[in-house]
Amino acid sequence: MTASSPAVVDAVAIDGPASSGKSTLAREVAKRLGFVFVDTGSLYRAVALALDRAGAGEATSDDPSLHAALSDLSVSLLPTHSGVRVSLSGLDVTPFLREERIGRIASRVSAFPAVRKALFDLQRNLALAGRIVMDGRDIGSVILPEARLKIFLEADPEVRARRRLADLERSGLSVSYETVLADILDRDTRDRTRAISPLVMAPGALLLDTSRMTVEEAVSWIVARYR
Ligand code: C5P
Repeated sequence: MTASSPAVVDAVAIDGPASSGKSTLAREVAKRLGFVFVDTGSLYRAVALALDRAGAGEATSDDPSLHAALSDLSVSLLPTHSGVRVSLSGLDVTPFLREERIGRIASRVSAFPAVRKALFDLQRNLALAGRIVMDGRDIGSVILPEARLKIFLEADPEVRARRRLADLERSGLSVSYETVLADILDRDTRDRTRAISPLVMAPGALLLDTSRMTVEEAVSWIVARYR
């Protein structure tokens, strides 16, 4: 932190593991507070899509094809109250970001220092502008430790798997519960054990376990803490 860093920023940082409900809650909290909502997972997914399109979806962290694709990367965001629209080189790629394949690449490459570095300034500048609810894995710990409210979400892996399965079924995909649970546990391990910006509860963050809460209860809890 530099001497000119603000002490507190009017923002809510929400971190937590895969399928813990971050984006659902963050979107609704933003609506109630009249803040902008930014789902930073969509940025990692945009990088994954760019790498995939450049034929570098399988690249390792020191692969020249990764660095070539990152140096050509031009990600921009248009924050709206219902979420961000994400563009790659000026083209809106938002509809492609939720694909399972892109999520898997994002989970792998988000552990690469070069990928995290490529997205740092974009996130930090948006966050410092304030009046924002940002969700991800390292918002309270790395991107905006100065957020007025930091929340760390938890939910039992089985509950998260059931929620994720319901989402997939709603979008017409048929996957088994066991596959979804295994994928969630896999992502948890990768997020929590990576060397750079691992998923941790930031100092000063409040823990919220949503395993037995409705969306409305969790949103009200967060909004009340902010106010
Ligand atoms: O949250 P979502 O599943 O969309 O994120 C996609 C991937 O990006 C995750 O698997 C996670 O590893 C990574 N991510 C991250 N840091 C963030 C947001 C997402 O490492 N702030």
